[in-house]
Amino acid sequence: MDTMPQLKVFNTATKKLEEFETFTPGVVRMYVCGPTVYDRSHLGHARTYIAFDAIKRYLSLRGYHVIHVQNITDIDDKIIKKAQDTGKNWSDVAEENIRSYLEVLKKLGIRPTLSPRVTYHISEIIAAIEKLIELGFAYESNGSVYFDVSKYDRYGELSGRRSAESWRQEEDVLREKRNPFDFALWKRMKEGEPHWSSPWGEGRPGWHIECSVMSSRYLGVPIDIHGGGGDLIFPHHENEKAQSEALFGIKPWVRYWMHTGMLTIRGEKMSKSLGNMVYIDEVLDRWSPEVIRIWVLSSHYRSQLEFNEDSLKQHESSQLRLSTAYRELKSILEEAQQDFRLSEEDVKVLREIETLHREFHEAMSEDFNTAEALKSVRRATDIYFSKIRERETHAPALQLFSFLEEANYIFGFVKPEEARVGEDARLREMIELLIEVRKRLRERGIYDLADKIRSSLGEMGVELQDSGLETRYILRK
Ligand SMILES: [Zn+2]
Repeated sequence: MDTMPQLKVFNTATKKLEEFETFTPGVVRMYVCGPTVYDRSHLGHARTYIAFDAIKRYLSLRGYHVIHVQNITDIDDKIIKKAQDTGKNWSDVAEENIRSYLEVLKKLGIRPTLSPRVTYHISEIIAAIEKLIELGFAYESNGSVYFDVSKYDRYGELSGRRSAESWRQEEDVLREKRNPFDFALWKRMKEGEPHWSSPWGEGRPGWHIECSVMSSRYLGVPIDIHGGGGDLIFPHHENEKAQSEALFGIKPWVRYWMHTGMLTIRGEKMSKSLGNMVYIDEVLDRWSPEVIRIWVLSSHYRSQLEFNEDSLKQHESSQLRLSTAYRELKSILEEAQQDFRLSEEDVKVLREIETLHREFHEAMSEDFNTAEALKSVRRATDIYFSKIRERETHAPALQLFSFLEEANYIFGFVKPEEARVGEDARLREMIELLIEVRKRLRERGIYDLADKIRSSLGEMGVELQDSGLETRYILRK
């Protein structure tokens, strides 16, 4: 294509599709709110993390250097409650869940640049709160510190929330605040809770301040993308925005606010109270990471995503078809010779691949529409099975393969170990040796042994194709 399509991003702050530009040319600074580790990660988390991983990968594909910070909230009311309910130490609760979270990320092929933990940044958090008090945006009350929303006139801009009427809060906390929207930057210690020393006495950070402190420490200010699940818009992101713009004296602090849509489980909202929570590790026991990624990315990141077994089954066959095409093309290309002339039909195939590749980038450029992009990839795969597989012409195979490589980089439909099979030179040498032995056997009429080699290799995913006494092979496993 002459030029890549203009990249556009939907910004929650403006509710508009905007042309994508970064503060530093060629660099994207992206902060995604990670988990509060009081429990294992659930499917809603997986959806958000996979979505932002695909966004990051597409930005890399477009030539950006992406720095991706995804925090871990390892101290919070929920962690303390879980520790009290289970009789465990709060830090053991956090450690256990951090381990399982990182394991899940790795399996799903998600690798943030950095995963900063709150409890490793307490002194920076205290310094930020001191500065907010000094600037007049925060006040101490009874050993806790609150952000004063009346001092910040853009409060409510991101979420549209301006009324606190329907918002239930604890009475004693409300009494300490000047305004119901004021939020805790520092919480004074309660009996039996973990605590750190501060200028306001023993206590611990409130939830929101960590993201402003850790993002600015590692990404600087302002940042290009701030992402998370849609449920974080209020109060978490509204509060982050208020305190950051106040603290750094900058607006906007974030160029693009991006949020993922809701996840439903068999048609219902997933929630603890409905008892329909689905955890990622359970799903990973039944479905491969490749199938889970394809399933998540078959929806646009802002759309509702439905989880049910049928839909996963469907995506399993789709993943198999995509990875088969990828692998077979790889194998074909290792054997295929340069073409000196193409048939009319192959020229047509080349054009079709070119069109689908452009459509893929057009979809991804329109607010990372993986759902539409995946359709182009599937159509390209159909071309493989209907027009390339039997003829094995070099040019269309190569063009389609490079398209599928890009697509695989985003969607991750090929198992990493399978992607390597075709590169294993020793494996190829051994297969060729067996083919040579089989040829000798056939020359001498020892067909039962020759057939045995053929069927055994077939079972291992190496398909032999005879043409006279010559034999070619395709790795299908
Ligand atoms: Zn956050």
